[in-house]
Amino acid sequence: MHEYDLVIIGGGLVGGSLACALSGCGLRIAVVEAVPASAEHQPSYDERVIALSWGSRRILEAIGVWPDISPEAEPIRQVHVSDRGHCGFTRLGPGDAGVEALGYVAPARVMGAAIRSALALSPDVELLCPARLSEYRVAADRVDIEVQHGDEHLRLTTPLLVAADGGDSAVRQRLDLETRDERYAQDAIITTVSPDRPRTGVAFERFTDTGPLALLPMTGGRYSVVWTCRGEETSALLALSDDAFLERLQARFGYRLGRFQQVSPRRAYPLKLVLTRNPVQPRVVLIGNAAHTLHPVAGQGFNLGLRDVAALAEVIAQSARAGADLGGPAALSDYRNWRGSDQPSTARLTDLLARVFVNPWTPLRLARNAAMLGLDLIPPARHRVAQRFMGVGGRLPRLACGVPLEKADARS
Ligand SMILES: Cc1cc2nc3c(=O)[nH]c(=O)nc-3n(C[C@H](O)[C@H](O)[C@H](O)COP(=O)(O)OP(=O)(O)OC[C@H]3O[C@@H](n4cnc5c(N)ncnc54)[C@H](O)[C@@H]3O)c2cc1C
Repeated sequence: MHEYDLVIIGGGLVGGSLACALSGCGLRIAVVEAVPASAEHQPSYDERVIALSWGSRRILEAIGVWPDISPEAEPIRQVHVSDRGHCGFTRLGPGDAGVEALGYVAPARVMGAAIRSALALSPDVELLCPARLSEYRVAADRVDIEVQHGDEHLRLTTPLLVAADGGDSAVRQRLDLETRDERYAQDAIITTVSPDRPRTGVAFERFTDTGPLALLPMTGGRYSVVWTCRGEETSALLALSDDAFLERLQARFGYRLGRFQQVSPRRAYPLKLVLTRNPVQPRVVLIGNAAHTLHPVAGQGFNLGLRDVAALAEVIAQSARAGADLGGPAALSDYRNWRGSDQPSTARLTDLLARVFVNPWTPLRLARNAAMLGLDLIPPARHRVAQRFMGVGGRLPRLACGVPLEKADARS
């Protein structure tokens, strides 16, 4: 039996970030990850490009991985939001928040490499990979876990199990929690294009009748495309030649960035909403996509997961310093209270945006255009929306203020 202070199932963007955050706090941590970071089919560190909020940058800085990400991170200084074929639009910027950018755009693979190299240097984190959770049982004072690690069958025990195993979380499914789990009738097609008139620092979110189309600025004048389309259109869009795809994209987006030239291979993601009602259970906490999987409109999924990481890491570090039970009710209720509103409210807001902007019903269309024009004309309202997406509102954990966790003496 291998004993740990904490076992994290899933070493993707969220689970890996939690392990980095707690590294150096004197805890013995195991991360159980099914797929090596370098594998083509790694589901977290893949070809997607992530829009990081300003708050997320601060967290990544505080956990020590930002220096390896920043050379590939392009700042977003303005977001241009518009409704295709209608008059409403608005522009969001960092305004008077006193920061250099609303956020950044970084490739998930680069983030994965930064997280994995930080973990490789951490003496208190053991990465079991490729390893898969087979079974777990929750007892009064611990969780017993069985893991298949290559040919070996390992038995682990810990006072706290954290599930960061993504949208199809095996941990969540075994707990049989009350969960909203709905498939959108949409897929997201992602690719990278090179326009001939890139606008440094400007991201675009264009709502269309089939779903939102986002163009996010990347280094080297490239743009990451997240094209939400109806499920029945997906295979045809993937099958188009590069030239025909660029032509379709140009017709959807227009010429604000000039003419699109090169395009990288396309990839489709089915979209769904998963929202677990109570992701904090005795000795088990679900974070990231395991607790809430969001539509990519407004780029909130990982940012929300990273806020889970910052709050949970703080609560665990505090309990460790106090010599308290890491999976005990006191520590976990503190985390539950802290995260109880941000998770459902961000999920609902994202769901609303995904549904309202594809609805062609005239009163709703007029209302959303008026709302966008109103936002453009009323700076305080626009500023509040920008702050929300920058991840700088509410009770901020230390890491979200850019302050590393207080370390405890190493446990015996
Ligand atoms: C097209 C698209 C664009 C997006 N854009 C943005 C954006 O701009 N901004 C943003 O904030 N978010 C964005 N997101 C959301 C973001 O990608 C997710 O929120 C993020 O990947 C969640 O990370 P996670 O670690 O919780 O889960 P995952 O990324 O799913 O990782 C889960 C990990 O657990 C491992 N695992 C699963 N089961 C087991 C098991 N049984 N045993 C061991 N290991 C296991 C997997 O191998 C994987 O490594 C986007 C999502 C999509 C689909």
